[in-house]
Amino acid sequence: MSTLEELAKQPLPPADEIAGRWVVQAHDHLTEPSEYERIMGELRFGKDFSDYMAHSIWTRAAGWGEKTIKPYGPLPVTPGTAVLHYGQEIFEGLKAYRREDDSIWMFRPGFNAHRFNQSARRLALPELPVEDFVGSCVDLVRADARWVPTTAGATLYLRPVMYASQDFLGVRPADEVTYFCVASPSGPYFKSGFAPVSIYVSQEFHRAGPGGTGAAKTSGNYAGAMQAQVIAQEQGYDQVCFLDAVTGTYLDELGGMNVFVVYQDGHVATPALTGCILEGGTRATIMQLLRDEGVEVREARISLLMLLDQIKSGKVTECFACGTAAVVTPIGRLGGEDFNVEIPVGTMTKHIHDLITGIQWGTVEDTHGWCYRVK
Ligand SMILES: *Cc1c(COP(=O)(O)O)cnc(C)c1O
Repeated sequence: MSTLEELAKQPLPPADEIAGRWVVQAHDHLTEPSEYERIMGELRFGKDFSDYMAHSIWTRAAGWGEKTIKPYGPLPVTPGTAVLHYGQEIFEGLKAYRREDDSIWMFRPGFNAHRFNQSARRLALPELPVEDFVGSCVDLVRADARWVPTTAGATLYLRPVMYASQDFLGVRPADEVTYFCVASPSGPYFKSGFAPVSIYVSQEFHRAGPGGTGAAKTSGNYAGAMQAQVIAQEQGYDQVCFLDAVTGTYLDELGGMNVFVVYQDGHVATPALTGCILEGGTRATIMQLLRDEGVEVREARISLLMLLDQIKSGKVTECFACGTAAVVTPIGRLGGEDFNVEIPVGTMTKHIHDLITGIQWGTVEDTHGWCYRVK
């Protein structure tokens, strides 16, 4: 089991115990009812934001300062703000779910809290205590409860961020850092249901290399993946899959999702954590759920050439991508400079999707205690 999985197993205090650390400020321009109705009727991804945001500033001299839930709005950015120059930034992504009985839940927020600190260490940013991270989400979601959708499959997407906010051009870790968490009411990622995506395997670009920042959730990894994404989309693909930077032959992951391969003999594989892959909470959850069902899960080196052969021969029956935003998405086509293979959409992908979303929405038993009640 990975270090992150071990840490994520530590129980969190109930929300009532950690609520109130982030102090809610007065808000004098709450979203008007008509605008609120429009937003909640459309539910796009990441386009609209709730009324509030969590906010705190850290200084090297004094540590974390006042922790507030304040009106969503601009942050001060001067041209000298360090993050604009050197990209010292990390982020997370998690969701708040409203269930049938109106209770509001998060899924494994401790995993995200520990991963945030793992990313912080790699980017030489200060750590945020796990209970403050989770507390910021709890207090924000409670203040913004009306923004947690009631529509099936829709959620309030939470985006915690930490960045170098010091006004300084020196190349060293910033002495002032800002943490914030914003919330965006979002619809189901795929409006058209469970549609397979096409993946372009980049043989030209890599997203991460040995000793680099691939295992941290940091903006620079995304910036470095954008050109490959543009090329893939120009050629009619939805997303990019990156190969390992050392040999250029093994699958790493997509720009923002992990990958799984399902074999005809019943076992399932996902690329091993080499330090160049972001350890997804969805990835960890899927591995556990499959093992619970007695399915053999291997963390392996998955060779692209072998995979293409195995797809053609039928030894590989399904491939899928996973991450918090889209949960589980079938991969229907894998292409590159000199190959293009179709992959059938099978039952395992759908089964895992239904299992994990069932647990998240409270319709399937949560035997691991992953669901965390916010309200
Ligand atoms: C966030 C992310 C994932 C998915 O992680 P989850 O915890 O499952 O949402 C996978 N790969 C990259 C590069 C990511 O940034």
